[in-house]
Amino acid sequence: MRAVVTGGAGFLGSHLCDRLIAEGWDVLALDNQVTGVDSNVAHLLKHPKFRILRADVSNYIDVPGPVDYVLHFASPASPVDYLKMPIPTLKVGALGTHNALGLARAKNAKFFLASTSECYGDPEISPQHEEYWGHVNPIGPRGVYDEAKRYAEAMTMAYHRFHKMDTHIVRIFNTYGPRMRLNDGRALPNFVFQALSGMPLTVYGDGKQTRSFCYVADLIEGIYRLMMSDEHLPVNIGNPQEITIFEFAERIRKYFENAPPIIFKQLPQDDPKQRCPDISKAKRILKWEPKVGLEEGLKLTLSYFKDVFKKE
Ligand code: UDP
Repeated sequence: MRAVVTGGAGFLGSHLCDRLIAEGWDVLALDNQVTGVDSNVAHLLKHPKFRILRADVSNYIDVPGPVDYVLHFASPASPVDYLKMPIPTLKVGALGTHNALGLARAKNAKFFLASTSECYGDPEISPQHEEYWGHVNPIGPRGVYDEAKRYAEAMTMAYHRFHKMDTHIVRIFNTYGPRMRLNDGRALPNFVFQALSGMPLTVYGDGKQTRSFCYVADLIEGIYRLMMSDEHLPVNIGNPQEITIFEFAERIRKYFENAPPIIFKQLPQDDPKQRCPDISKAKRILKWEPKVGLEEGLKLTLSYFKDVFKKE
């Protein structure tokens, strides 16, 4: 089996490449290195079944040879990144998805879309189940990511229904773990970087907004099961253990002696007030649920970040 993974040098893309290689697949990763980094796949470069090409999937893509699966994971995914790169974010969600679907269709391959809980926007219900249509501001600063992913889902379903393609859509909730960039601007890397540098931890707003953090190994397991399933409609994958951002910052401070204090900063526009996945569908059809708790996941992630910090 041969897979093409777009965004293969990114945080999630590289973990997915690891999993596919471990399952015996041939993997071709495509990445334009905008947010992905070579070091995420450095350990795979000598593997005979792994290759990586520098390519921007927002432009036409072609790949020689047969392909069984195209997995579209390319996109900036941190609010700070997509605010810095609004147009590339829109393009990779829209044109990149179209190109990746086109490649899958040309190769008679299956297709997998990495979608997001951002499709639910600032949700009016909690937890969020897959039938909820969401509450997204199309013209707000997050619209560039949210609407691109919503378009990507619509495009994927159109290819499934019209071209009868075998497609899958995962809605990924907040995920953390080794290979997140320490400077990607998200809550966990920010808090850890700040704690390591002795700077105050910046909680935005009053910190009462919630998120639910899933450890990357659990997420990849859910994704692999969905890849192999015959479900075509979106499936939430995430950890339903919900926590306020203030509590989350406190949890991270506990791992540091003489941890710096918490300070409050302005809440970014349209920042969702709550986010928690309803994972009953994943439990039912994939027999999947997360296994790694926050305590264990944070330990693994902090030890990675401490090493990276030392080297930088
Ligand atoms: N956040 C924070 N301090 C930071 C970075 C983020 O309080 O230094 C908050 C952010 O406003 C949001 C939550 O943490 O409410 C999660 O933000 P993140 O950027 O990790 O991802 P999001 O879930 O918003 O996509």
